[in-house]
Amino acid sequence: MIYKYINYDKIINKITKKDRLFLGDYIIDPYQNCEFGCKYCDSTFEKIIYIKNNFLNKVENEIKDLSKGTIIIGSVVDPYQNIEKNLKMTRNLLKIIKRHHFKPHILTKSTLISRDIDILSQIENTIVTISIICINRQISNFLENSVPSTFKRLELIKKLSDNDIRTGLAIMPTLPYIIEGEIEDIVKLSLKYKTKFLLYKFLELKGYQKKCFYDHMKVLNKELLEKYKLLYKNNYTPDFEYIKKINFQISKNCKKYGLPNNI
Ligand code: SF4
Repeated sequence: MIYKYINYDKIINKITKKDRLFLGDYIIDPYQNCEFGCKYCDSTFEKIIYIKNNFLNKVENEIKDLSKGTIIIGSVVDPYQNIEKNLKMTRNLLKIIKRHHFKPHILTKSTLISRDIDILSQIENTIVTISIICINRQISNFLENSVPSTFKRLELIKKLSDNDIRTGLAIMPTLPYIIEGEIEDIVKLSLKYKTKFLLYKFLELKGYQKKCFYDHMKVLNKELLEKYKLLYKNNYTPDFEYIKKINFQISKNCKKYGLPNNI
């Protein structure tokens, strides 16, 4: 992996539309591109990870002029990817957020976040969302082979919850057909591992990402590839009827077991 420093004019981006999924007001990403290389993700096309120059000073300068709110960390790339072990940009960002009385909502697949439990548990109203795609080991090992296993991520949720950090699970991206048949088990496992809420959002395949993903699916399962081609034929999302059907199944199971499907 190649790491490069890069200049940025602005670090904190305001969310202009109401964010109903993550409840964020601002977005910060310490890094650009992601070295975890999940095969469905568009943050992995380049093999260069860019590190934002002078990141912490810029955050300090920008944050003091903003009205208080929730800052989403990790909506574009994982803030706890490998480089974070040494650079600690996310860890130091949390210290700034705490000092300025903002709320963080962190999205990650990485167990490295447990290093920062000491800070996270001191910030009022911290939210953490850990994402998985499925519990089928063969599929998750193939599609996301550089992140901790699904079960390690579930254990991570329990660890964070045991430290009084409000932690939820996201089935994200929700992969058509793969998710079917697993929904009830995921909801039950979520509760076993002390998940406080469940979020989900369907896989989007825009532009070049569609071609890359289809190339991987060809190796994983040719039949499934053909079904994806049909489902995504006219758009970068599955067709509306399919989304409606699966959303209904997820919310029905959440209701059945008493797991909120929003934050
Ligand atoms: S960890 Fe997240 S950002 Fe990184 S490659 Fe996987 S899905 Fe993309």
